[in-house]
Amino acid sequence: MAKAVIAGNWKMHMTCAETREFAAAFRPLISDLPDDRQVLIAPPFTAIPTLSRHLEGTGVAIAAQNVHWDEKGAYTGMVSAAMLVEHGVTHAIVGHSEPRKYFSESDEQINLRARTAQKHGLIPILCVGESLDQRETGETERVIHRQIEQGLEAVDPTRLIVAYEPIWAIGTGKTCAADEANRICGLIRGWVGHKDVTVQYGGSVNPATIDDLMAQSDIDGVLVGGASLDPASFARIANFR
Ligand code: PEP
Repeated sequence: MAKAVIAGNWKMHMTCAETREFAAAFRPLISDLPDDRQVLIAPPFTAIPTLSRHLEGTGVAIAAQNVHWDEKGAYTGMVSAAMLVEHGVTHAIVGHSEPRKYFSESDEQINLRARTAQKHGLIPILCVGESLDQRETGETERVIHRQIEQGLEAVDPTRLIVAYEPIWAIGTGKTCAADEANRICGLIRGWVGHKDVTVQYGGSVNPATIDDLMAQSDIDGVLVGGASLDPASFARIANFR
């Protein structure tokens, strides 16, 4: 059986000094983690070496928060897949709603990122999800279907994670109801067309909501922002029942 994937996205938080403190506190809290789950953390690029060194031997895998689609070149500020692999990174988030919004990332660019990630052996974590406006106007399914169709063109579904992240739930404290998150995750599984694809839910996941979310049949894991910055909260999430 596939493992549940519990991923933390630190966004633009955590210096190397803060990363060391996090790792020291987190390590003992996940020492008895059951075998049926995989924990990932996506720190800022600058903290990747520190986090891998300080969590060595714990089984926690390191993810990148994004990856460029080209191999190398004149792309100031960007990081390539080969550069990430060199640091032991195994996964890369693509299509998160923040770069979609702040850097106008398109589905076509996100698709290229996912393909390049796979070419280098990284597992892309494709984020999809609707805005509040789109939900209120009944466009949720159409929007997510399009993001899946365009984002996954020529992407191997057997080496992939998809995260359903309703934008209105991100950083707002409003976790999507577990049964509704489950319904959308089930639709995503169907649209991806590979029944064993890992489908995560993300959006204000916290220690109070994790058990209910992980009890759902179509939710195979979670992508956690704010609560992954606190070792005790993230460890409780990783130790879901
Ligand atoms: C995220 O940014 O992917 C996220 C889910 O954030 P939060 O858990 O803070 O809502």
